[in-house]
Amino acid sequence: MIAQTPRLEIYPDRIAENARVVYDLCHAHGAQVAAVGKVVCAHPEVVHAMVGAGADMVADSRIQNLTSIAALGLERPSMLLRIPTPSAAHDIVRYADITLNSSLGSLQVLSDAARMLGVTHQAVLMIDVGDLREGVWPDHAAKVAEAAAALPNLELIGVGANLACYGGVIPSVENMRMLVDVRDSCREASGLELGLISGGNSSSLPLLASGDMPAEINHFRIGETVILGSNVLDRSDWPGTRQDTVRLVAEIVELERKPSVPIGLRAQNAFGETVEFDDRGMRLRAICNIGRQDTSVDGILPHDPGIRVIGGSSDHLILDVEDATTEVRLGSEVSFTPNYGALLGLATSPYVEKIVRRG
Ligand SMILES: *Cc1c(COP(=O)(O)O)cnc(C)c1O
Repeated sequence: MIAQTPRLEIYPDRIAENARVVYDLCHAHGAQVAAVGKVVCAHPEVVHAMVGAGADMVADSRIQNLTSIAALGLERPSMLLRIPTPSAAHDIVRYADITLNSSLGSLQVLSDAARMLGVTHQAVLMIDVGDLREGVWPDHAAKVAEAAAALPNLELIGVGANLACYGGVIPSVENMRMLVDVRDSCREASGLELGLISGGNSSSLPLLASGDMPAEINHFRIGETVILGSNVLDRSDWPGTRQDTVRLVAEIVELERKPSVPIGLRAQNAFGETVEFDDRGMRLRAICNIGRQDTSVDGILPHDPGIRVIGGSSDHLILDVEDATTEVRLGSEVSFTPNYGALLGLATSPYVEKIVRRG
């Protein structure tokens, strides 16, 4: 069978290699790891690879993904990463064993749903230690924990933090210690054990690797460093991991030598942007069959160092292939490494075929 284009090629064996490196680091600290596959829409082969490599639980931001993960029968607890949507409480309680919460209101809604379904739901209270995304402000966390302790069918099992997502704040000894201190005050106010302290996402790994992560932090939720092999603080390669875990392949549908600056009066482009052009003279340009409906065109790096992405519209990717070192002709394939944002789009686009490659 001839593979279609555009396609996203996924290498689960390589992702498993990365997962072993990263999970070993977490386990050596005495911490559990939740495997996060949301950037590939919880692709079953990727979830299997991460669980096979030793993930203790499986986490995702979308309840639809947790539903498909449940069908895999992995016998690992499932965790919802996104703050719960009140109107979806029943599905959340059904498909997520554990949720991350940032208000007493959402804990009450989940408690009600769990009571109606006759189950006990586990919850983590998120604390905002500075990134300004989710979490209760530290000085009123104890009150929330105390009130949560009284909710039926709901078990508050610990606290958590999420950094480097919105505000770009780096996990540090100070903000991790603050999280431990908040846990201690919540424990005192509520009488609950609160044994789980979920320190964060891939951005926690540099502090963990440095040896300075406080010992009390005993849970991490890890996606990007495993799936793309990157240090998320600066996007450098994470030591011991591979970066050839996913690959985008598109096809050349037009090849023409054209000037590098458009001819005629210019206004905004189709996306309301005013684009500046460098005059590099006449250049051989290729158009590929992928566009901004499928990915972020600034987030894909051609494997051929002589090919440059110069732009894109909804359905067309424009490349400068004047200096290409590989063969370029109508119908030939061009491959790229996507960054996190580009991969998110590729995995989500129904127009991009997903192919699993072994080895
Ligand atoms: C996405 C997400 C993670 C995983 O983040 P990575 O940077 O991919 O490791 C962890 N926690 C929460 C709350 C998330 O939304």
